[in-house]
Amino acid sequence: TVKVRFAPSPTGPLHIGGARSALFNYLFSCNKKGKFILRFEDTDLERSSRESEKNIIQALRWLGIEWNEGMDKGGENGPYRQTERLETYQKYTNKLLAEGNAYYCYCSEEELDQERQELLMKGETPRYMGKCRSLTEAQKQVFESQGRKPVVRFRVPEGQEITINDSVRGKVTFDSNGIGDYIIVKSDGIPTYNFAVVIDDVLMGITHVVRGEEHLSNTPRQVLIYEALNFDVPEFAHISLILNTEGHKMSKRDGDTAVIDYFQKGYLPEAMVNFIALLGWSPAGEKEFFTMEELKEEFSLQRVSKSPAVFDVNKLNYINSHYLKEADLERLGCLALPFLQEEGLFVQDLSSEDQNWIRIFLGAVREKISSLSEIKAYVQYFYGQIISEPDQEAASVLRGETVPQVLELFMEKITAAEKLDPSRAKGILKEIGKELNLKGKDIFMPIRISLTGKMHGPDLDAIIALLGKDSIQARLAKTKK
Ligand code: GLU
Repeated sequence: TVKVRFAPSPTGPLHIGGARSALFNYLFSCNKKGKFILRFEDTDLERSSRESEKNIIQALRWLGIEWNEGMDKGGENGPYRQTERLETYQKYTNKLLAEGNAYYCYCSEEELDQERQELLMKGETPRYMGKCRSLTEAQKQVFESQGRKPVVRFRVPEGQEITINDSVRGKVTFDSNGIGDYIIVKSDGIPTYNFAVVIDDVLMGITHVVRGEEHLSNTPRQVLIYEALNFDVPEFAHISLILNTEGHKMSKRDGDTAVIDYFQKGYLPEAMVNFIALLGWSPAGEKEFFTMEELKEEFSLQRVSKSPAVFDVNKLNYINSHYLKEADLERLGCLALPFLQEEGLFVQDLSSEDQNWIRIFLGAVREKISSLSEIKAYVQYFYGQIISEPDQEAASVLRGETVPQVLELFMEKITAAEKLDPSRAKGILKEIGKELNLKGKDIFMPIRISLTGKMHGPDLDAIIALLGKDSIQARLAKTKK
């Protein structure tokens, strides 16, 4: 059975690229009725933190990605944090050392630096040339007595072709001569990524390694370790980089790269999932909106593209708008509340009237926004006494001949109204038209401009209902002046 993993290094928040790896692994495992593990690769002690772990877990949960085994969940293959597995790595280090597939290296930073410089001067790729490959016991002792702490390096076989059958990229071949003997255990005893990842993937029974293309060049190094330890090599699938719309690797400068940023801006998780799924994977048909369940059904590695994915925020906005229109208004209300609170609204406990207000408000604006944070720009329409100054065109509409009677009658009816909800508001507008024998526009425009200062905006019935009598009176009084 299929078993996959997402193995982030907890050195920062979950980024879009990481979320995509997690999602593809999750979808693949669900599609194949397999298992999905979450493991933290925290061997970079300085940059790893528990806070990042929490952030990653939160972001995954928000997206609705679930794991069968791993952090926060447990399972039979734990622990799921690499720093808690040091003894295990030690065992395999010893084996590699004993069988001559690895050796201690005592070279100092300065010596390595010098070697690097020399290779660069000769126009060669810098790599470790194997100075410590065959140290005698006596030589080692000298280094030890100098207080040097060794690293462990993997002995890369010479003149070997390493071929990877990648499910996305096809056959990829590397020449072992281009790979210098690399460090598998640092001088402080902590294993490096390329070593620990192999041991973990083997012991956890991983059948498919699905990860970002940036790890493709690590793969031959990992394959050599599988081979040295006589382990079966899993299937690999390296998914393409994510580029910005200019064709560069996406970076912080292109806007938000952390998943949590999108949560904070009021994107819906189902929209994020739909959008992220399409970063490199394409469905068989024309359909563009997919629920998680549909994605699980349809996902396959065969349809993951070799060419880079493009992160286009306009596409994300388009997808999010779609889901905003579909979302249950009650749920949307909960999600929108923090943004309303940022505008100073509803900072106390919500009454049922407040909830009603929010529902009508969202019903009126959700057609117009692409993320919930944008509702903040609409609050002004529906709340309080501030109206923007009408522009020239709007001001000239207000000088129309029939405007005074329209506004007067409107005021009268508003004052008389018992309950001001959108349907009552609609009724009032209709009655005015009938009584004054005027066309819709001649009624809506003056009222809209008097109430909002603008000629366009959200549904007028909703504006009237949400402003309520007091604000309407105040706003009309302002226009009159
Ligand atoms: N810890 C690695 C990373 O975060 C995982 C790479 C892999 O999936 O092998 O990039």
